[in-house]
Amino acid sequence: MKLRDPHKADNGHLNAPALECAGLVKYFGGVPAVSGLDLSIAKGQILALLGPSGCGKTTALRLIAGFEEPDEGAISIGGQKVNSTAGNTPPERRRVGMVFQEGALFPHLSVAQNIAYGLPKGQGRDERVGEVLELIGLTAQKDRMPHELSGGQQQRVALGRALAPQPEVLLLDEPFSNLDPKLREQVRRDVLDILKASHATAIFVTHDQEEALFVGDVVAVMNAGRVEQTGSPESIFHHPVTKFVAQFIGMVDFLPAKHDNGSLHTEVGSVAWPEIESIALAGLNSNGNSQIEVMVRPDCLDCLPSESGGGVVVEREFRGAFYLYRVQLASGATVRCLLSHTAEYPLGASVSVSLRDGHHLRPFVDDRLVAVPHAGSAPGH
Ligand code: ATP
Repeated sequence: MKLRDPHKADNGHLNAPALECAGLVKYFGGVPAVSGLDLSIAKGQILALLGPSGCGKTTALRLIAGFEEPDEGAISIGGQKVNSTAGNTPPERRRVGMVFQEGALFPHLSVAQNIAYGLPKGQGRDERVGEVLELIGLTAQKDRMPHELSGGQQQRVALGRALAPQPEVLLLDEPFSNLDPKLREQVRRDVLDILKASHATAIFVTHDQEEALFVGDVVAVMNAGRVEQTGSPESIFHHPVTKFVAQFIGMVDFLPAKHDNGSLHTEVGSVAWPEIESIALAGLNSNGNSQIEVMVRPDCLDCLPSESGGGVVVEREFRGAFYLYRVQLASGATVRCLLSHTAEYPLGASVSVSLRDGHHLRPFVDDRLVAVPHAGSAPGH
């Protein structure tokens, strides 16, 4: 058996992304499940595909794997187009591996036999199975049957089986959602180590934003059948381009802001707002109806006892190491503040809320981020 060297691209496609989707559209019964999906993944990269239930994540994976055909758009895997009007490459020839929620191991085959399943018979097969067993840390359990393994071990076997033929791209569809939360953390760390050790290119579907930030070299946030933003975990978290992305990735509040004298003013602080230029750039409505707000995350705000601060604690959640407070400001708007467990305030306490040093308020106009240079300050959070 001849195995492909995953570090070498095929001739002629040296710089091609491992996977590229352009303008994918898929309808079911006249309703779009995917509507203009663009994705590009470099070799060796892990892309976390994140989005709410029903936004089209699984459909996107099924289109890439070839279980569904797109109504429009193009898919290239390893630099080669796999769909065209002339015909579509069948799933078994797309060099795509899949790992599902439930692992879906063959119950009548041992661990080693499950891993060997997708490998062609012949020289090198046993050797590859041995390599994969070592990679997933289950050499000692190679003769066990799936029911003799823990949930986490079963998922490692499923991953090993998908990695064994060295696919161009590995697709993981919510692979941990059937595991309990404690096990889930451990297994996802193990899986990430295995993916990195094998230099795999992978799309990892999840609707858990924390998981996406942890697993992805790149995170793509989907909304209603399309990718709304792609970027590093940090850029998606700190610079979400739309209100949808901001709200989907972690806790966030929006406060109304007024522009005056080169700044946007809010009840918790101000942000530079170079008048004419930015207003034009931001595309403010000429009729003056634009909604100008700032985004602020709870860890960006400090909250101190103050009789004249204008804020009142209206909710408090004890989270062990932290308290999450909701504070009603003088205008009636509310914001959340994440404070150490040592900052213990009762409901009804009078407080002042301010922006922490090194953090920034992000201006949004009509639900979209407006990039404003922070003169004189280092890029902050
Ligand atoms: P979840 O996170 O809940 O798994 P998802 O983001 O993976 O959701 P999809 O399963 O891709 O979403 O579904 C996208 C939309 O397409 C949904 O409205 C779904 O009901 C619809 N859909 C998916 N598959 C089919 C199908 N075979 N026939 C009809 N509608 C479908």
